Amino acid sequence: MTTMTVSETVRLTKLRLEPIAKEESLQQAKLLVAAVIGADASALSVHSWMEINEEQLRILGELIERREKGEPLQYILGEWEFMGFPFAVDERVLIPRQDTELLCETALERIRNYAYRNVLDLCTGSGCVAIALQKLAGVQMTASDVSRDALDVAKENAKLNDAEVTFVESDLFNCVEGKFDLITCNPPYLSEQDMAVLQKEIKFEPAAALYGGVDGLDFYRRIANEYKPHLEAGGTLLLEIGCTQGENVRALFGGNAKILNDLNGNPRVMIVENI
Ligand code: GLN
Repeated sequence: MTTMTVSETVRLTKLRLEPIAKEESLQQAKLLVAAVIGADASALSVHSWMEINEEQLRILGELIERREKGEPLQYILGEWEFMGFPFAVDERVLIPRQDTELLCETALERIRNYAYRNVLDLCTGSGCVAIALQKLAGVQMTASDVSRDALDVAKENAKLNDAEVTFVESDLFNCVEGKFDLITCNPPYLSEQDMAVLQKEIKFEPAAALYGGVDGLDFYRRIANEYKPHLEAGGTLLLEIGCTQGENVRALFGGNAKILNDLNGNPRVMIVENI
């Protein structure tokens, strides 16, 4: 019978992951090994001399094979963190991106500065934006998605985080009623060209959450036409945008639209004020 310690297992897992995970292979190896032994990845060194049993090795082998086929680590782990909260993720929803934290941070700032109470999150997917805002700002939150599958995941995540969110199955504003102080949305915004050169991992994510029409702007066009009756006077619409889309999206919203850059200096969020 072979025996292996946690640290040997991490080392061998890293070697197996190198071709697919490149410079992230050590971090991903630690996360997979930690998941299999039920430990926290950041405290893995505490267990480094612990032996891994055969059943754990067998399970780890299966997880490594999935990763080798290109499946994103987040789906394999089944959970990912966003704004400090855990979110269940699988192939029904887009994996929460760190990029999207700028949308949340901007929303939080405006909720505080303008005392916004009533917030709508469109294209909610895993519910990460809606749930983080509800938890951090205590706002009255409505979240919608056209995908019933995504809403099932979002509802599970609201429960996981003990967040109070009203969910609506709706194609953008179609089945949304009422007016809101703040509307957030991270719509699908990849173009046909972007979809043709997707990274292997992203191909595992739902195309409906990524594809925004031939030029990637279909959802922004619809939102520009439909948001006004749903936004209170003095309210704000916040949209995540692709890093090459700033000027094109701004043109759809006219004079009140401002572009916010992320820490890499790329356009990432569009702020539209209803003044
Ligand atoms: N930022 C995502 C990506 O590049 C796309 C997310 C979206 O379309 N909303 O994979």
